[in-house]
Amino acid sequence: MVPARGARAYFQQLAEMGETELVLEDEGRTGRTERRGRTEAAERTERTERTERRGRTERTGRTAKGGPAMYPAGITVPAPKEEDLFSTDPVRRAARLEELRELIEACRKCSLGYTRTHIVPGEGNPNADLVCCGEAPGQTEDETGRPFVGASGQLLTEILRAIGIDRERDAFILNTLKCRPPGNRTPEPLELNACAPYLHRQLELIKPKVILALGRPAAQTLLSTTAPLKDLRGKVHRYRGIPLVVTFHPAALLRDPNNKSATWDDVRIVRRLLDGEPG
Ligand code: SF4
Repeated sequence: MVPARGARAYFQQLAEMGETELVLEDEGRTGRTERRGRTEAAERTERTERTERRGRTERTGRTAKGGPAMYPAGITVPAPKEEDLFSTDPVRRAARLEELRELIEACRKCSLGYTRTHIVPGEGNPNADLVCCGEAPGQTEDETGRPFVGASGQLLTEILRAIGIDRERDAFILNTLKCRPPGNRTPEPLELNACAPYLHRQLELIKPKVILALGRPAAQTLLSTTAPLKDLRGKVHRYRGIPLVVTFHPAALLRDPNNKSATWDDVRIVRRLLDGEPG
């Protein structure tokens, strides 16, 4: 039995310890649930926590989840001018990802069209909230026609899973280039320019809530910049109105695992943006 004078403190203490229902013995009546005491104590605790949280955010600019209240704004890539309704460009006119795929299959706009084994247009949920964009297909991707397979693909799958994203169900994965550069060499600017319309149209059709650019070439292509990766990370950019976050390419993480914690910071920004927090 709890003395009346100490009841308030007692309820509060239990509520702070996570107790959700208190049972008291009161004047011989055993097992009576005292919900009012719990409610008052729980409400008071919640009020205190809310005030503390607000104070913390105001003092440090960081939320209880550990990230800043707002991330610095990065580069803004505006949407193109009003679409030409009479455009005859088949890429602009493609209304479905499948149509784009057929166009990519037939594409020889750059030399990679003659050396590839398979095109790698991308895969995943065409209505996904998240698009992950890498640089270019590697050897295994060229052999299978699928993006991000092999060790770096496995790592990407795990990174996404860590923020509650199922790669096939919740995301669409693609590359800036749809054909493999021989020997995995760095793509030439001419190749990136030739292939960019497919990427832009894919993003227009998918309309993701958030874009995650994996590695410098993907970030630079999407943001039309030559800024280094270190200057692009830790910010929320805007690609045609869509929040865009930059992080390391999984292949780079396999080479240097020291960047894993920085990647974790980046993908947590993605998670928060997907959850509707301001970018
Ligand atoms: S890389 Fe792009 S532009 Fe070049 S051939 Fe392949 S699909 Fe066409």
